[in-house]
Amino acid sequence: FQDRQREYSDHEKELLSTESLPCVTRDGVEVHLMANIDLPEEIADAHRFGAKGVGLYRSEFLYIERSPHLPSEEEHYELYREILDSVHPEPVVIRTFDLGGRKLAREVMETEEDNPVLGLRGIRLTLARPQIFRTQLRALYRAAVDRNLWILLPMISSLDEIEQYKRFAGLILQELEREGLEHNPDCRLGIMIEVPAAAMVADVLAKEVDFFSIGTNDLIQYSLAVDRNNEHVAYLYRPLHPAILRMLRFVIDSATKAGIDVSMCGEMAGDRHYAPLLLGMGLRRLSLSPRSIPEVKTQIRQISLSDMPSVIDKCVTFSTADEVEKCLERFLTTQEPVL
Ligand code: PEP
Ligand code: MG
Repeated sequence: FQDRQREYSDHEKELLSTESLPCVTRDGVEVHLMANIDLPEEIADAHRFGAKGVGLYRSEFLYIERSPHLPSEEEHYELYREILDSVHPEPVVIRTFDLGGRKLAREVMETEEDNPVLGLRGIRLTLARPQIFRTQLRALYRAAVDRNLWILLPMISSLDEIEQYKRFAGLILQELEREGLEHNPDCRLGIMIEVPAAAMVADVLAKEVDFFSIGTNDLIQYSLAVDRNNEHVAYLYRPLHPAILRMLRFVIDSATKAGIDVSMCGEMAGDRHYAPLLLGMGLRRLSLSPRSIPEVKTQIRQISLSDMPSVIDKCVTFSTADEVEKCLERFLTTQEPVL
C-alpha cells in the first residue's frame, strides 16, 4: 500500500510539474486547454493542473445539489460570480441547465417519460419551463458584468431552438433594463453540438451563434445508437468510428468557414491518444477534466502539426474504427508521417 501511495504521489508531482509549461506543439501552434467542472470546488484543481479558463460548467449540478428546491436567482448569481471571478480574465463557459435524460428532475419535469434520453431534456426542457429558465438567465446576464462569460445551450437539434432562445433572452434583457439592474448583454452565445442533426446542419447553425462546443459523449451515443452508460453495448462506443470522424470534420470545417470559435468538451478531448487527430482536424481549444490536462498537454507538446494533414487524410479514408486506431497508434509511437 505504501509503495502504491508513493507511486501515486510521484505521478501527481510529475503531472503538476507541467502546470506552467506552455501548451504548444513542437512547431509552435498554441492550444487552449480549459477545465470541465461540475462544482465550483473543482476550480482549485483547474488552477493546479494549469487550465486556461473553464470550458464547461455543467450548471445542472446546482439544481441537483439543491433538489427538491429550485435555486433562487441570488443563489445562481453568487455561484456564477464566484466562478467568473476566480478565473478572470480567462473565459468561463456556463452551460444552461441540461436537466432531464438521466439527470432526472422530477420537480421540473412533471411528466413520466418512457425514453427520457430522447425526451424533454436540455434546451427543450428549459424552453418549456420559462420560469425556471428566466431565473437562470437573469442571474447569468447579471453575473457577466465586467467578466468574460460565454453562454452555452445544451441539446440543440435545430435552428428553431436557437431562434426561440434569442427571443426569450431578448425579453429577459429588456426586463433587466426596465428594472435598472446592472447586466451585460454582450455575452458570447454558443451551442453544444451533441445531437447528430445539429452536426449535420452545422454550416447553417454556425451563422447564428458565436461558438460551438462539441459534446462527443452524447454525439457518439446518439449517432451510434449506443447508450453511453450501458456496459452490454460499451464495445460499440467507438469515438473513432468513421461516422463520428466525418461529423467532427464537417462541424469543425463549418465553424472555421463561418469564422466562429469551436472547441470540444466531451470525454474524447481528455484522451491523449486523440489529440493529434483533433488538432489535425483544426481544433485549437479543448475542455477536459482538470486531472487529464497534464497528460494531454504533454502529448500536444510532442507532436508537430505539420505532420498532421497526412494523418487526417489517411484516417478519413478508413472504413472501420480499428483501422483508424491502428493508424493513430503507429503515428504516436513512431512520430513519422503516415503514407
Ligand atoms: C457531452 O455530451 O459530450 C457533454 C460534454 O455533455 P454531458 O456529458 O454533460 O452530457
Ligand atoms: Mg451532453
